Amino acid sequence: MKIAQSLISTIREACQESEAPLALHEPLFQGKEWDYTKDCLDSGWVSSVGAYVDRFEQMLADFTESKHAVAVVNGTCALHALIYALDLQNNEILTPSLTFVGTTNAIMHAGAIPHFVDADVQNLGVCPDKLAEYLAENSVQREGKCHNRQTGKKIGALIAMHTFGIPARVGELAQICAEHNILFLEDAAEAIGSRVDGKHVGAWGVGGMFSFNGNKTITCGGGGAVVTNDSALAKKLKHLTNTARVQDGFYFTHDAVGFNYRMPNINAALGVAQLEQLPNFLVAKRHLAERYRTLIERLEGFEFLQAFAPNESNHWLNAIRIPKDLSLEPLLNELNSAGIQARPLWRPMHHLPMFAQFPKMNLDRTEELFHRIINLPSSVKLGLK
Ligand SMILES: *Cc1c(COP(=O)(O)O)cnc(C)c1O
Repeated sequence: MKIAQSLISTIREACQESEAPLALHEPLFQGKEWDYTKDCLDSGWVSSVGAYVDRFEQMLADFTESKHAVAVVNGTCALHALIYALDLQNNEILTPSLTFVGTTNAIMHAGAIPHFVDADVQNLGVCPDKLAEYLAENSVQREGKCHNRQTGKKIGALIAMHTFGIPARVGELAQICAEHNILFLEDAAEAIGSRVDGKHVGAWGVGGMFSFNGNKTITCGGGGAVVTNDSALAKKLKHLTNTARVQDGFYFTHDAVGFNYRMPNINAALGVAQLEQLPNFLVAKRHLAERYRTLIERLEGFEFLQAFAPNESNHWLNAIRIPKDLSLEPLLNELNSAGIQARPLWRPMHHLPMFAQFPKMNLDRTEELFHRIINLPSSVKLGLK
C-alpha cells in the first residue's frame, strides 16, 4: 500500500528515528527513581505505610489543584472505590462506550449499571450535545433525582473520560449534570497534565481518577489515585481503601467492609520521582505532538487529533483519523510489520458480551470512530530529541 508507506515515513520523520522499532509508549526513568526506591529498600518501608505515599498524594493534589488526593493500587481500583464511596449501587451510570474496559469494570464491581453514551468526533470524549438531547427525551426527574424513563432506575452519575489526554467538553458536561441532578465524575486515567481553561481535568466534578500504570505518561509501576475537593469524601475513601481500619490500641478493628487498595510505599516512591519530572515530560510530549501535527497535515486524507484552546492535552498518545476508504487492519499490519507499534481504539464496550445487554443511546459515532482512529508511537523520549 503506497499510502501506508507514506504514513510510515511520516511517522519515522516525526519520531526522528529512521530504523529502530517504535513502541506505543515506553516509561522513562531519568530522575530520582533509583534513589527513592533504594531508600524504601534500605529503610524497610516498602509496603502500605510510609512517607512517600503522603508525599505522592500531596504532590498530586498540588499539581491538579485539588484539595485531596488518595493514592491506591491502580486506576481501576481508584474508580471502583470512588463509585462505591458515593453509594451509587444499583444506579445507572452514564459512561462512554468508547473507553478502556477498566471504566466499565469499575462501574460493575461497584454494583452499578453502565448506561452507554456516544462520543464527540473531534475529542473522542462524551458528546454534550447528544447527551443533552438524549436526557431531555429519555430521563425524568423524580424526588429531585434523575431517572431513566425506560428502566425506571436512578441515573446517579456521568463519568467523562479524556481520551488519550485530549480533554472532553467538561464545562458543558458538568452543566448538563447539574441541570439533571446527576453527579459528575471523571476518568482522567490518561490525562495527567491536561487542562481546560487552565483548570486541571479530574478536578471538574465531585471526583476524578488517574492511572499510573506503566504505559501512562508517568508511572508508579502500578498505581492510581482519586482527587477531590470534598473533604468528607476524601476521608471516606482513605478509610475504605485502607481496610476501613479504626484506631483501637493494639487491636485490628474495622468498622466497614473495606478494600485493601492502598498504594505501597515503594510504588509511591517511584511516583514521586516521576511527578518531579512531569513538567519536563509534558514539554517533550508537546514537541513530539507538534511534529506529528505538522507532518500529518501534509498527508492527504489524514487528520491529526488535537485539542483546541482553551483545552490543553497532555499528548499521552498521539492519534490520527484515517481516510474513510482506507481499511484499518491492513494499515495496522503494514505499520506493525515496519516496526511501528500502532493500535486501534478499544473495541466499544457495548460490543463486549458481558456489557451487551445494558442501556445505551444510539452509538453511531462510536461505531464509526472505531474503524477510523489509530494511535501512533508516543513515548516521552521521542519528544526529547
Ligand atoms: C489506564 C486506564 C484505566 C485503568 O487504569 P489501571 O491503572 O490500568 O487500572 C481506566 N480508564 C482508562 C480510560 C484508562 O486508560
